[in-house]
Amino acid sequence: MHPGSCCWQKGDNVTEEKSKYIIVGGSAAGMAAAHTIRLHDWKGPVTVLSEEPDTPYFRPLIPFLVSGKKCAEDMVLAGCGPYTGRDIFVRTGARVESVNTAEKTVSVQGNGGMAYEKILFATGSRPYIPPEIKGTDAAGVFALRTLAHAKNMAKRVEISDHAVMLGGGLLNLKGAFALLERGLKVTLVVYSPEVLSQLMEPEDAFLIRKALDTAGLTIKTGCSATHIIADSTGVTGVALDSGDEMSCQMVCIGKGVRPNVEFLDGSNVRIDGGIVADRYTACNAPDTFAAGDVAVTFEPVSGDRIMTALWTNAVEMGRCAGRNMAGVKTAYSGTFGILNATQVADEPFVSMGLVHTTNHDFEVYRHATETTYRKVVFNPGGTRLIGAIFIGDITNAGLYRYVIREKMPVMNIKRYIIDHTLHYGHFVTGKN
Ligand SMILES: Cc1cc2nc3c(=O)[nH]c(=O)nc-3n(C[C@H](O)[C@H](O)[C@H](O)COP(=O)(O)OP(=O)(O)OC[C@H]3O[C@@H](n4cnc5c(N)ncnc54)[C@H](O)[C@@H]3O)c2cc1C
Repeated sequence: MHPGSCCWQKGDNVTEEKSKYIIVGGSAAGMAAAHTIRLHDWKGPVTVLSEEPDTPYFRPLIPFLVSGKKCAEDMVLAGCGPYTGRDIFVRTGARVESVNTAEKTVSVQGNGGMAYEKILFATGSRPYIPPEIKGTDAAGVFALRTLAHAKNMAKRVEISDHAVMLGGGLLNLKGAFALLERGLKVTLVVYSPEVLSQLMEPEDAFLIRKALDTAGLTIKTGCSATHIIADSTGVTGVALDSGDEMSCQMVCIGKGVRPNVEFLDGSNVRIDGGIVADRYTACNAPDTFAAGDVAVTFEPVSGDRIMTALWTNAVEMGRCAGRNMAGVKTAYSGTFGILNATQVADEPFVSMGLVHTTNHDFEVYRHATETTYRKVVFNPGGTRLIGAIFIGDITNAGLYRYVIREKMPVMNIKRYIIDHTLHYGHFVTGKN
């Protein structure tokens, strides 16, 4: 391969190739790192090796491909081959099978090896398919993660009337709405007592639940699927642990994700849940870095080691890794385990920091109206804001994020936080 060439075609012989920077994974973290390296090193070749056949795209938008509101071209993050005049080489369909950190080489499926000086692991995660649910390999069973999955889901809609979604997390809700918009009947099966249990407690979710009901989503809580029933046409139904059976033609599994770390088997890169990165995004082996969903990072409030599944974290951590790889030593500021600003059934909401408060002695304030809900959480002494949920009215949520993240003493601004009247002036003038 040489500068100016386009996508890496199967069969290319790249055995002798070398790239100063290799990035494994061409999504949020990987592409953010590639661009950032180029800002600080104008010449060093940057090669992105990405397993997916598609050029990098904005993953959170893929439910819109299922609903038909957007097409794949609307989601493109970057092209293939050298682009934007910056000599970053994106190679699609390039799965890294193994890494030799002593020789500083990677082996790419079907394409030999490649040498690097510095390497970033940004391989993200993949859906978790619970082994206790039998029959998940039937046609019509999906776990929405990639553009290819979204395209296949969109096709299956054409021969479906009813879809069953297993799991009540944000990704499955987004998928559920895409299917509702295509005119399907959609049933959400949730083991927890309420939807979005990772992001809020059941009593926090009443407005969202109301919006979901109004939108026509059928929700079954407190139960889970035991097996998927199928015939030669694919899925025909789902059996639940309650003994009920539902007929359907599509099933979507949204039961969390697992990091893509297997390509590091046999290397000496430290894995502990995900790839362990230090404050400077570096791994234990020389000149190796990790960022995004696959990396273990830390929570700024508690300092705990955590893994996230957030686009924003992947981009910020990828940028930080890019700086470090290009020799600009930069500490990563960590990320909230929970940090979501999104919309479900036209209901905007933000959930950030520590919001699961039952059985803790946090100071908690809630305020609810017909159309809005908020919950602010202070530490047990009431001196610091540590978490917040806003539903319906998310005005100035960024300010609350700042207060949490900077661990600001809140005594002078506490009543504004509780009343939701905090504004930029409180920070600019210092007057409370
Ligand atoms: C439907 C959906 C909706 C979402 N909505 C939101 C949202 O609203 N807000 C939000 O913050 N986040 C959202 N997310 C999560 C967000 O997309 C992820 O947190 C983000 O994509 C993580 O980026 P990443 O670069 O770490 O990894 P990924 O995006 O997972 O990309 C990793 C890439 O590496 C490739 N790869 C893996 N192994 C190898 C290998 N061995 N060799 C080469 N390539 C490899 C993968 O194929 C993939 O292309 C959503 C995710 C989905 C699926």
